[in-house]
Amino acid sequence: MSIEEKILNIKSKIKDKADLIAVSKTRTIQEIQEAYNSGQLKFGENRVQEICDKKSKLPNDIEWHMIGHLQKNKVKYIAKFIKLIHSLDRISLAKEIDKQAKKENRIIDCLIQLKISKDDSKFGLQIGDFESFYKSLKIYDNINIIGLMGMATFTSDNVLVDEEFKMIKRIYDDIVPIDDKIKVLSIGMSDDFDVALKNGSNMIRVGSKIFGKRNY
Ligand SMILES: *Cc1c(COP(=O)(O)O)cnc(C)c1O
Repeated sequence: MSIEEKILNIKSKIKDKADLIAVSKTRTIQEIQEAYNSGQLKFGENRVQEICDKKSKLPNDIEWHMIGHLQKNKVKYIAKFIKLIHSLDRISLAKEIDKQAKKENRIIDCLIQLKISKDDSKFGLQIGDFESFYKSLKIYDNINIIGLMGMATFTSDNVLVDEEFKMIKRIYDDIVPIDDKIKVLSIGMSDDFDVALKNGSNMIRVGSKIFGKRNY
């Protein structure tokens, strides 16, 4: 299947329930261009340098999403153009995004990344810290929190994945009625987006099911 056919295939499974973010980390300009040519305009990357390099070589109407762990000292390189930061998980980072957004005269949309998985390598805020973290972000005028992001445990155990997605959906459902800016639940990747969609995902981040296996 071509990249275009794979995208169409995923879109037919999503229907209109979710936005598709094509995760293009490690992929070449040509591969991204091919996806773009088929109408895919939203791409996710996890490295600042890679995202800046690709942005400079690809069409201007692409929406770039930062989905990976973000270091404070790199925020300044993406503040001008980033569409959505999925990985806000600590106050020091919020402070820096706010500062750089002010410099660019922007308000940057962000998702709070929650740690829902059992893997210890994954970043994200502990569930128990969510409420106080969420409240403490109110003082940052140039950050706009529009939802939550989570990554499930890397496992073929769909029961566990389902439980983890239900956990983040519960928190999402708690804040939607009290905050009318909340509208994005970014859960689901190549191997678990079907489980995520059943649990109310409205943004999925898919890499290998579009571009093929990565080498890491
Ligand atoms: C790499 C990555 C993805 C996509 O992973 P696939 O399994 O290739 O679909 C999604 N979200 C995040 C945060 C990632 O780092």
